[in-house]
Amino acid sequence: QQRTLVLVKPDGVRRSLAGEILRRIEAKGYTLVAVELRQASDELLAEHYEEHAGKPFLAPLVEFMGSGPVLAVVVEGHRAIEGFRSLAGATDPTVAAPGTIRGDLGRDWGLKVIQNLVHGSDSEESAAREIALWFPAL
Ligand code: ATP
Repeated sequence: QQRTLVLVKPDGVRRSLAGEILRRIEAKGYTLVAVELRQASDELLAEHYEEHAGKPFLAPLVEFMGSGPVLAVVVEGHRAIEGFRSLAGATDPTVAAPGTIRGDLGRDWGLKVIQNLVHGSDSEESAAREIALWFPAL
């Protein structure tokens, strides 16, 4: 079994798509291990996005991710990291394939930060790091 950290970003929560996104994860056959709606602090977000330190979109990204509550979810299943990234689709929702979360539900709003509804860990190392960060008790 493998675990991955999924975040429904503030745009997804604001648009009332959290349930639809959880539905797709469960329909795929993965298990929800932990779910928490919470307002992320700047400190948490800076740590979460440490790989983007120095990039021009980091500050707007942290501002966007703190603009409202996010739904943090630990998802479990064999190959869940790769599987969720496949469910999510490409980073840019304009070109993300139809059938994916970003392709079906996302679009480009012409803002500084790409609002693409979800985050999913991209490797076993980042999944372990991110789960420890968001759910230290797990
Ligand atoms: P995530 O890490 O959120 O799952 P990702 O792995 O598809 O997304 P990353 O390259 O890690 O994408 O970028 C993190 C987030 O930063 C993206 O999901 C998007 O919201 C935003 N972002 C990435 N690249 C850009 C960019 N060039 N311009 C604006 N925003 C961007």
